Amino acid sequence: MKSQPAPAQATAVLSFDFDGTLHDPAAVPPVPVAFFPLIQRLRTEQQVVWGINTGRPMAHVVEGFIESRFPFLPDWVVARESEIYFPNDFGRWIPHTAWNKRCEKEVHGLFRRTRKLLARIRHEIEEHTGAQWMEMHGEPAGFIARTDDEMEWIVGRITPLAAAEPRLAWQRNSIWLRFGHRDFHKGSCLSEIARIYQLPAARCFAMGDGHNDLEMLDHAHAGMTACPANAVDVVREKIAVTGGLITRAPHGAGAIEALEHYFPLALVE
Ligand SMILES: [Mg+2]
Repeated sequence: MKSQPAPAQATAVLSFDFDGTLHDPAAVPPVPVAFFPLIQRLRTEQQVVWGINTGRPMAHVVEGFIESRFPFLPDWVVARESEIYFPNDFGRWIPHTAWNKRCEKEVHGLFRRTRKLLARIRHEIEEHTGAQWMEMHGEPAGFIARTDDEMEWIVGRITPLAAAEPRLAWQRNSIWLRFGHRDFHKGSCLSEIARIYQLPAARCFAMGDGHNDLEMLDHAHAGMTACPANAVDVVREKIAVTGGLITRAPHGAGAIEALEHYFPLALVE
């Protein structure tokens, strides 16, 4: 799988959440085949660049591309809602080192300073719920709840506790929650990518279906926003009040609908 040559000057940055937005696990293939020729035309006729902005770690992103039969690679990837990667000419993913290192350093320092607070949060969750605490590389990563309702309860419980450290934030995606730094999320990553392409937020398009998409669906980071029909209520509400597009179709078919809405193409003879 290869990357494509970048347009000389990009005119827009397109940011897609993966799971639940482009990717429908119940569909074969999980991303509609028609999505790719449309993206291809938008790249050549309107000089857009596009990427996947996901909570998946990079290795699982690559698996997703293979499973979903991507015919070519996107121009960029955001993994774990915080790390930025660009493909080289050979289709290898190269980290945006300055950003990724800064994120790692900030998160590491934050976890060190908030060790006691995180221990309290962990105790609270383990005492009252069946959610499972997770660590990665010796650092608190987050936890997995048994149900959406349980996660709802947990978020309500930890919000006042975490207020003691304003830089402590988390990314929720249904029953998963990952702790992180308030300044690193899908939205700030999208703005960093737009900065590299020398484009303002008004020229960014973002589409997502879950809680962890809320930041990138904010006009601070994307002037054009959409969610698929299957998005969670809080995302649908945000899109509705901010004048974005809630597509009629779910998943990838919704993504095609959103592209046709924001980036109409000349009809082919
Ligand atoms: Mg999603």
